[in-house]
Amino acid sequence: MAKYGEIALKGLNKRTFEEILVKNIRRSLSDLGSFEYSRAQSTLYITPQDNTSVGANCVRPQLDEAVTRLTKVFGLGAIQKCMVLPKDFDIIVKQGIPYLETSLKHAKSFKVEAKRADKTFPLNTPAIQQELGGAILSAYPHLQVNVHNPEVTVILEIRDKGAYLNPKRITGAGGIPVGSSGGAMLMLSGGIDSPVAAYMIAKRGVKIDAVHFQSPPYTSERALMKVHSLCEKLTKYLVEIRLNCINFTEVQEAIRNNCPEDYSTVILRRMMIKAANILYDNKRHGALITGESLGQVASQTLQAIACTDNAAELPVLRPLIGMDKIEIIDIARKIETFDISTLPYEDCCTIFTPKHPKTKPKLHEIEAIEAKFDYDELVKIACNQSTVKFF
Ligand code: ATP
Ligand code: MG
Repeated sequence: MAKYGEIALKGLNKRTFEEILVKNIRRSLSDLGSFEYSRAQSTLYITPQDNTSVGANCVRPQLDEAVTRLTKVFGLGAIQKCMVLPKDFDIIVKQGIPYLETSLKHAKSFKVEAKRADKTFPLNTPAIQQELGGAILSAYPHLQVNVHNPEVTVILEIRDKGAYLNPKRITGAGGIPVGSSGGAMLMLSGGIDSPVAAYMIAKRGVKIDAVHFQSPPYTSERALMKVHSLCEKLTKYLVEIRLNCINFTEVQEAIRNNCPEDYSTVILRRMMIKAANILYDNKRHGALITGESLGQVASQTLQAIACTDNAAELPVLRPLIGMDKIEIIDIARKIETFDISTLPYEDCCTIFTPKHPKTKPKLHEIEAIEAKFDYDELVKIACNQSTVKFF
């Protein structure tokens, strides 16, 4: 049982959200076997189909992996891996109690939480809790009931189609389904911040394409592989990613050769934005996303951000703007991008880094510097030669 998060509160357009959610889930579970999907009462029932096979080796659906993947699908509030039983209390006790053994045998305390959506079921909620609790105590006498802080909460939901028994409610990823809020273009470096920015905006339903700038031979093939690994990790949340790769070597060399060194960082950032302006597609993208956080480095002061924004044709979303590095790292660890991001390969931003980057750049000064060389032409050529990879 996969229970909706915020979608449950949607009004007339709930159906649209549900359809996108189901599509995303189908995609996420597609290689784990065959599942049947049905919806009712703000819950999606995902039923493994026995005796079917997908691919040569997959005979039974892989349930635990499916549950793990579901915890990363935006739009779900909770996931419960249930035994489905007939709505007959004696059968529930007889078949259900052995099913709970692995969860209860080493636990010290438990409680039963019953929900009776089907009001025709003969026992009411307190009676179900009492009777089932009693039956569990007789089967596992070492247990104690603890209603306030139990180690295991046995959940029994009497719903239209059956009785759903499970010993755990797993928290879902929350948010709304990817694709329900349109799309955006992420500026994806190999660092810690931009993957976290992607996660946060995808959580609000945005489908994300990415652009990565590399500068070979200053940046290595391994730096690019790192970005590919980040995309692979991120697809668990982002569903799929179209990654554009742009060779920015000539642009960076032109900046190094023609700009005052202290302005090079912010000018490079503006050129990246200008490349994104060329790459984005009106139909797919309504914003750009970066991993900038206020004051983190010289290119992330209010003045530098104003100069960067001035180059952008789309709104720039910066979900990390008010976050500390520690908070960002916590999320990076949770979404498992941290260990990849901290691999020691050079990013194009760290080459030619000025010793004293300007922290309060002024737009008119930047425009005067940029007017002395045709950077736009180099950016255009770089974009024309960009490559695309799908994850
Ligand atoms: P990150 O950890 O995301 O690399 P950072 O703290 O290193 O961020 P900067 O290097 O100043 O900060 O980059 C700020 C933002 O600019 C990044 O979060 C990312 O969105 C974008 N960016 C930087 N380098 C690249 C790159 N090589 N390709 C694409 N986007 C980039
Ligand atoms: Mg960086």
